[in-house]
Amino acid sequence: MSLAIKNKNKYLYAIRVKLESAVYRHVLLRNGYLGLRQMLLLQQFHGFASGDMLFKKIFIETISYCNNNCAFCPASTAVGMKEPQHRMSERLYEKIIKELEDMAYPGSVAFHGNNEPFLDNRLAEWIAYARRHLKNNFFYLYTNGLAADITTINALFEKGINKVIINNYDDTHRLTPSLVELVRQEVFLKGETVIYYRRKNEYKGNRAGQSPNAEGELTVPLRFVCVRPFAEIVVGYDGTVPLCCADGLWKSVVGNVSETSISEVWFSPALKRVRDSLVKRDRSRLVACKFCDAVSFLHLKGNV
Ligand code: SF4
Repeated sequence: MSLAIKNKNKYLYAIRVKLESAVYRHVLLRNGYLGLRQMLLLQQFHGFASGDMLFKKIFIETISYCNNNCAFCPASTAVGMKEPQHRMSERLYEKIIKELEDMAYPGSVAFHGNNEPFLDNRLAEWIAYARRHLKNNFFYLYTNGLAADITTINALFEKGINKVIINNYDDTHRLTPSLVELVRQEVFLKGETVIYYRRKNEYKGNRAGQSPNAEGELTVPLRFVCVRPFAEIVVGYDGTVPLCCADGLWKSVVGNVSETSISEVWFSPALKRVRDSLVKRDRSRLVACKFCDAVSFLHLKGNV
């Protein structure tokens, strides 16, 4: 059992949210901040830059839908872009897992994307299936916790997930009722669980220009690298592979793994062109990147 609770101090977190928001909304501060991030990123970028390495994590969206309405998220129910009936077929899911097994994929498997994974009642059994084929991979997911209870979470641990990360989205910095109950029962948790206090109205970048609370679009594409297309692959419910996890509305689709193999998509000329542009810090011809204010390198830290 292990339960960690992060961002617990309401006042410190409020200051952090305000600071981040201020930095992103002010051009000079934002460029200075992103430039600093890029300097840190470039030190670790060389191994990725060739693009001949396999991804380090795969996100699988077994359903497309979310049940929350966060101001920053393109999957918010307030935006209404995602359909509840969109579910991945079992055949496609098994194809993905078997391909990962065949390629001896060593990285992490995330059972979420721009969706709420706990709304999929097949999740525990599907994780069990994945664990039978991918014995040593790190499995995890992010959830908003609204549909989570200790029985559901423990079922995932029993089937093979390694870590459950819960973002508690609440603008008053209170735990949602389901999580109050979970904390009360923490001694019964069967695996590593982390709860983050988060705000529904926080601003942490514009997510490929798709965040509903982004203020205006970038008028000039940023000249920064981004590591995501070198390190991660996202698979949607119907096999669609958007450029990265920030592209929640699938504005830049680079392939579909229901039609081709994962490695064909990953090493495709389309993705190579994207990577070549990003290495040159040229986002101007990339539909999602053009309006994105991300300089991402968090993927290089640990398993998640
Ligand atoms: S720049 Fe933005 S849209 Fe482009 S790959 Fe990075 S995170 Fe995704």
